[in-house]
Amino acid sequence: MLYIELCDVYEKLEKISSKIGKTEILANFFKKCETNVLRQAVLLTLGTIFLPFENRELGVALKLAMRAISKATGFKIDEIEKLYVKYGDLGKVAEICVSQRKQKTFFKKDLTIEYVFNQLREIGFAEGEGSQDKKISILAGLLNFSQPKEARYLIRTVLEELRVGVAEGIVRDAIVMAFFKAGEKEKAVEAVEFAYNILSDYGEVAVIAKEQGIEGLKNVKPILGRPMQVMLGVKAESIEEVVRRHGKVLAEFKYDGLRLIIHKKENKIWLFTRRQEDVTAQFPDIVEEVLKNIKAKECIIEGECWPIDPQTKNPLPFQKLSQRIHRKYDIDKMVKEVPVQLNLFDIVYVDGKNLFHLPLRERREILKSVVNESEKIKFAESIVSSDIKELEEFYNKALQLKQEGIMLKNLESEYKFGRHVGGWYKIKPVMETLDVVIVGAEWGEGARSKWLSSYLFAVRDPDTGEYLTCGMGGTGLTEEQFEAMTEMLKPLIVKEEGKFVHIKPKIVVEVSYQEIQVSPKYSSGYALRFPRIERIRFDKGPEEADTIDRLIELFKSQGKKG
Ligand code: AMP
Repeated sequence: MLYIELCDVYEKLEKISSKIGKTEILANFFKKCETNVLRQAVLLTLGTIFLPFENRELGVALKLAMRAISKATGFKIDEIEKLYVKYGDLGKVAEICVSQRKQKTFFKKDLTIEYVFNQLREIGFAEGEGSQDKKISILAGLLNFSQPKEARYLIRTVLEELRVGVAEGIVRDAIVMAFFKAGEKEKAVEAVEFAYNILSDYGEVAVIAKEQGIEGLKNVKPILGRPMQVMLGVKAESIEEVVRRHGKVLAEFKYDGLRLIIHKKENKIWLFTRRQEDVTAQFPDIVEEVLKNIKAKECIIEGECWPIDPQTKNPLPFQKLSQRIHRKYDIDKMVKEVPVQLNLFDIVYVDGKNLFHLPLRERREILKSVVNESEKIKFAESIVSSDIKELEEFYNKALQLKQEGIMLKNLESEYKFGRHVGGWYKIKPVMETLDVVIVGAEWGEGARSKWLSSYLFAVRDPDTGEYLTCGMGGTGLTEEQFEAMTEMLKPLIVKEEGKFVHIKPKIVVEVSYQEIQVSPKYSSGYALRFPRIERIRFDKGPEEADTIDRLIELFKSQGKKG
């Protein structure tokens, strides 16, 4: 299938703003794709070349893309820069340069989706000495054969700025619309989501939907070594509320650390974070203990790993664990300096069997039969009770031991990915916070003029991938943190307007606030009043930030409380 057909789809998507309109366009396109290119076509509509768990990036910056355009079209770099200043979109600039090419190519070749996808992956594989030239040469090679419209979208794809307003939500609905009858919609959405949560690849999911239908999707099994999505808790108002709803519940400590999803296949272990990062190399101590103490041949178990003070058994500050997560060398030294404990709380797969649909009660039994406790590996501290007083005492004990709070879990609930009422509930003392993405910032005044000291916050629309702004502020950071934040944000600046800079959405911060107000000033339609940064969420990527729906939910719930 030709790449130009995909570019026509991009163009249509760009012109239409309605979500249902975009879904229809994509569904028609997916239907038309031959099975052998469907996966690549779906990923390209999301602008994805490497999946998050591949730990690889294209690594194409603006300057490099400009050099490739120059090489392919004969335009000089300063001409390209001028056009870029004028249009603010290098894709558009590439389109112009290709349409007025100063050097002609001798052969003509039609770009296919398969060829483009594979060449783009080659760009990401170029590493080490000479890699910049190699990237330029592959990209220029593609531009050589491009029509102007193809050049526009190629450049936007490599810069990760496709701008067609499509993210996972719309792709999911388009897969459902393309391959299932209207009457099966509800079941199909559920099955597509289930398979995606396991495979983390909408391309593969689309192929299974097309070839094997709902049953095929429902039977998808985890691939050991490939991270999945995880189940999370919703915030509960109180212990009473959860007991009223579910009666007897499982209460567990909510440890303040790093979620580890542990995959075991024979004697190979992988450790993944909630963000699907592979942190196996950073925790050789955990790998060793897991190998010694898991009896199953293959399994996926989950727990929280936290830095422990060997004397008091209390947690060390989370910062200590961050140091371990980000350390690429001297790992053995870090293992000694920051000892950790792992508290296990779930199992979702064992020896070829999915356990997602079993109630927690049974999963826990299986977990206990598969793992031996050891000095470093323990089951999460827990009680089962419907007695409010007993549960409150347990909560106080967790807080006294300096953990974050407790989780209350419905013992009859299945393992459902994401946050759902009916499964897990969090009880912790702080007010509800929001995890927002920084999409802009302002240089400070006076003594702060060397720092980006005020930040524009945004929540995410999971359908379109758009970031909708919801407030601005800089309270909560120390001087050191301002400096560190400025260093993190500087490479992400995409445009400057006086003192204000637009920032590529990458950094997530947890903010508290006094209240949420309706506000026409921000694109979400709401504003956080007196936002305060509680911490930088190194453990979360922008796609995991809170959504517009959650912001609206919080706005409504504060209304209820008067
Ligand atoms: P939050 O990010 O506040 O929604 O909290 C969810 C996180 O709590 C999970 O991703 C885990 O890392 C962590 N956690 C700590 N203890 C537990 C537990 N006993 N059960 C489930 N999650 C836990």
